[in-house]
Amino acid sequence: MRKNLLTAWVVGSTILASACTEPSSEMTNKKTEADGSTLLAEWTGPYGGVPAFDQMDLEALKPALETGMASSLAEIEAIAQDPEPPTFENTILAMERSGSQLDRVFAYFGIWSSNRSTPEFREIQQAMAPKLAEFRSKITQNAALFERIKTVYESDEMQSLDAQQQRLVWLTYDGFARNGATLEGEPKERYAAINQRLAEIHTQFGNNVLADEEGYVTYVNADQLDGLSESFVQAAAVAATDRDHEGEYAITNTRSSMDPFLTFSSERDLREQVWRTYYSRGDNGDEHDNNALIAEILQLRHERVQLLGHDNYAAWRLEDRMAKTPEKALALMEAVWPAAIARVAEEVADMQAIADREGTGITIEPWDYRYYAEKVRQDKYDLDSDEVKQYMQLGKLREAMFFVASELFNFEFTPVPDGSVPIFHPDVMVWEVTDKTSGDHIGLWYLDPFARPGKSSGAWATTYRSHETFDGKRTVLGSNNSNFIKGAPGEPVLVSWDDARTFFHEFGHALHYFSSNVDYPSLNGGVRDYTEFQSQLLERWLLTDEVIDNYLVHHQTGEPIPAELVTKIKKAATFNQGFSTTEYLASALLDMKYHTMDPTGLDADTFERQALEELNMPKELPMRHRSPHFGHIFRNEGYAAAYYGYMWADVLTADAAEAFEQAPGGYYDKELASKLVEHLFAPRNAVDPAEAYRAFRGRDAHMEALMRDRGFPVPGE
Ligand SMILES: [Zn+2]
Repeated sequence: MRKNLLTAWVVGSTILASACTEPSSEMTNKKTEADGSTLLAEWTGPYGGVPAFDQMDLEALKPALETGMASSLAEIEAIAQDPEPPTFENTILAMERSGSQLDRVFAYFGIWSSNRSTPEFREIQQAMAPKLAEFRSKITQNAALFERIKTVYESDEMQSLDAQQQRLVWLTYDGFARNGATLEGEPKERYAAINQRLAEIHTQFGNNVLADEEGYVTYVNADQLDGLSESFVQAAAVAATDRDHEGEYAITNTRSSMDPFLTFSSERDLREQVWRTYYSRGDNGDEHDNNALIAEILQLRHERVQLLGHDNYAAWRLEDRMAKTPEKALALMEAVWPAAIARVAEEVADMQAIADREGTGITIEPWDYRYYAEKVRQDKYDLDSDEVKQYMQLGKLREAMFFVASELFNFEFTPVPDGSVPIFHPDVMVWEVTDKTSGDHIGLWYLDPFARPGKSSGAWATTYRSHETFDGKRTVLGSNNSNFIKGAPGEPVLVSWDDARTFFHEFGHALHYFSSNVDYPSLNGGVRDYTEFQSQLLERWLLTDEVIDNYLVHHQTGEPIPAELVTKIKKAATFNQGFSTTEYLASALLDMKYHTMDPTGLDADTFERQALEELNMPKELPMRHRSPHFGHIFRNEGYAAAYYGYMWADVLTADAAEAFEQAPGGYYDKELASKLVEHLFAPRNAVDPAEAYRAFRGRDAHMEALMRDRGFPVPGE
């Protein structure tokens, strides 16, 4: 069972729930329909075979997916019906071997989906979504298959396996068991019925929020635009025209509209109106009100995990996460909370002082926070982003990443000979990754750096092939993708500070792929509260002296970025941390409270108000996501009892960064770097992440590191 299928088990119903739209039309009447063979074929060519990105034929996609699913199901069925008694070899390893055809099709599918999307592709994607969902459930619901997995899991043979093999068996068993495979008879039926109802009301929850985002718009006129940027005003004019309000300006009810409006508009009454509209989404007492749905969702989740023998939803959810128990996640959040709200008090005092100085006579209210915070920022933390940009050249940043990879990971990056590796767009560049000492081939790194129509926004990392050895060594094909704006020919591409940091972040994911030393494909999978840690940590090398002196150099003069500017960048990182930590933590704490309680008779509105009172929530700001529109946890199960995960990863990042700061060789300490690779990068999911961290640090991560990182006082220091 290869990575895509495993991912489907791990996120379980999330994927199934999101794929229930009927296709609008089938792809018919096309000229000669391809048979899909180009997308299914074994990869040939250099470096252990590479995807034929130069032969991607969209017409081949649908037949290839269908053939790939059919062959995977046939492989799975053969395992399930094997007349031989179940063993690690004929069951678990056979599953690891299955699905390779489909896996190759998904590599192309991912390119169409993220790098080269078209309306024609999206039509196929929509038509195939229910079929893919059905395919996945045919595997997870295969009782004969699960029976064999369970037999291996409980067998004497299990004890004779090595550690990686045992973990593989456990992860396979657990992936099924956690999603209801152990149930029989009436509980099994109830389990399925609950999932079906949850899929419906999760969707309804999301649709209600969407309806309120679309249905409530604040219109303003030309003399109410003070403080707003020209680009914002233009977009607001277009949005108004689109809604038949020609000549007015629409402040739509989304974060991307609300946030800049509240930050820059000097119209206080309008700020209040926009703020109230935004934070009332799903809570307007009309047909789109979500309060009753929250109670039903929580009730059903609670009942479902009780069928599996768990006390509450969070206990079930965290069992296979690094945090392991709700108590540990809560303890972290509650430890940081007092410092966060204390910082809010300081921030409010700074803002109030400015308001007083201006003689406005106001008291800071939630709709004033962003506006006055911006004034504080200009006053105390001002960073000229254009000045910083002069030192951030894309080519130099890439060289800097290669330098870091060389120093820490002993990797060498060499461009492949022109034309030797097929690419899916002329902008894509490919490097071979080798071990600097032995020269051994490790993999290929594909970089698709520039924005273009049809490409997803933002930045991401992915693999076309992961490391494994059990059937002969397969090397890694990893990629990084960004949306930088191409410069004029011959001119360096200059990027913002945030984009430079993101570039390093995504490269951290790629290094995580390339470091893998696991034997089996499934062990490359991620653990949700752990997989962002490695990439976040890598961001820290951007501000090391070695990188600053040699790579963050002015594109004209070649001078390194001045120390004062670096200091300003570092200081700006702690700006408004009271606000962002508190609004985030309030949501994360509520998420955990909802999923550890008995939800019988819950009134979400009252519960939220009382919980915030008990927390002593500062009145000057709301939760980042109030319950009636908290889509992360109620629109699907993606972040249910898991919203804490962002902070969890931040603690690991801050604590591991301190280890380097304290090491004799600093961020380039050879001994610590080799421990980092050995324990935190190479094992992927072959070792329990909590054990892996302890092996690296000699202890668990300390949350005080995070407090220092955010500029909060640490008790006792
Ligand atoms: Zn990431």
